[in-house]
Amino acid sequence: MVKAVVGANWGDEGKGKITDMLAEHADIIVRFQGGANAGHTIKNKYGKFALHTLPSGAFYDHTTSVIGNGVALNIPILFKELKEITEKGVPMPKILISDRAQMVMPYHILFDEYEEERLGKASFGSTKSGIAPFYSDKYAKIGFQVNELYDEERLKEKINRVLAQKNILLEHLYHKPAIDADELFNTLMEYKKVVDPYVCDVSAFLDKALKEGKTVLLEGQLGTLKDTDHGIYPMVTSSNTLAAYGAVGAGVPPYEIKEIITVCKAYSSAVGAGAFVSEIFGDEADELRRRGGDGGEFGATTGRPRRMGWFDCVASKYGCRLQGTTDVAFTVLDVLGYLKEIPVCVGYEIDGDVTTDFPVTYKLEKAKPVLKTLPGWETDITGIRKYEELPENCRKYIEFIEQEIGYPITMVSNGPAREDIIYRESPLKK
Ligand code: GDP
Repeated sequence: MVKAVVGANWGDEGKGKITDMLAEHADIIVRFQGGANAGHTIKNKYGKFALHTLPSGAFYDHTTSVIGNGVALNIPILFKELKEITEKGVPMPKILISDRAQMVMPYHILFDEYEEERLGKASFGSTKSGIAPFYSDKYAKIGFQVNELYDEERLKEKINRVLAQKNILLEHLYHKPAIDADELFNTLMEYKKVVDPYVCDVSAFLDKALKEGKTVLLEGQLGTLKDTDHGIYPMVTSSNTLAAYGAVGAGVPPYEIKEIITVCKAYSSAVGAGAFVSEIFGDEADELRRRGGDGGEFGATTGRPRRMGWFDCVASKYGCRLQGTTDVAFTVLDVLGYLKEIPVCVGYEIDGDVTTDFPVTYKLEKAKPVLKTLPGWETDITGIRKYEELPENCRKYIEFIEQEIGYPITMVSNGPAREDIIYRESPLKK
């Protein structure tokens, strides 16, 4: 069976930890979208790691880690990551790379930088990992799939065709040096050498695995609000972050996805530009940022400080709905233990009307948060393993949010480690 682990919000919800935890009882973990523009932070017996491209199951020796066709495959970063983890004593993971995955080209990264520079104040706050130029080319049908490395004549011809267009942009729009076709071809041949042992027909591999009764985890990157279609367009990522896309980006039938575990953080954080209704500022934000996550809320890829806010029931209800949530994993709850009172955003006021439905972007930009304040529990809840042992106000916080979002919170994460998890019976679980 297939389970998806996806984010309800802006990303950084703690999907890496939940995937790593669920991977214990899974056989195959597949990344199905996105690229090295966001990271998962995982803490385990080998140390603390920020993974960008490797699936979070890479730390077990019983799992196979798969890069699906939907991923923006950055080959140098993938192999750098493999080197980093193996140098820290992690056994070399079993990895497979889809022969239909497309590669992030060196020029995608350049175009990302140049375009952000050109846009200046109107830039998207891109991580400059080449993701938007990569997906643009994919859909313009001038991207390069891994299998194209194996027909060198065709590849050379295509490089020339694609560079004719890229070099005009480089020269006339960005005033930067042109790309040399031979150099690019040689780089791609280097890529071929390193990926060759891992390339496979992933959808056929998964089909066989499912027939053998294996458990497959689809690991999402970012969250609903960054989805190209359903997120806060245009301040979104360039791929679909929804579990539904897992079927496409891994190559499995949609009806095989039986569980959708949507990860929701107990407060909000976001990176990049765009509306963020429950955002907080100043000392209040600084304190939450400093205490947040595991060692502070700073980007796993860029190190930049994340924008902080209170839990947003409107955004999270929407985020869970679009994912098709069967279970909510409610994470980083331990961090809120310092607060006497905890504000929660329960509605958006837009032009004088209050709504709990997440609106389209132009309305979202006008929304003001309607806050409700809940009492804090003012204790450290790390180490607790039973739901009933959580302080009453902490349980009330969880149960209030569950009612507001309307999806069952069946897992509560109270620390960064695999073991820091509380399973819970939810009245909403069908
Ligand atoms: P992802 O991209 O969704 O995996 O999110 P991040 O990598 O940004 O993970 C969030 C951060 O929170 C990481 O540093 C995790 O180690 C940490 N983390 C995950 N769950 C918990 C939790 O329940 N409590 C605490 N304190 N930290 C957590």
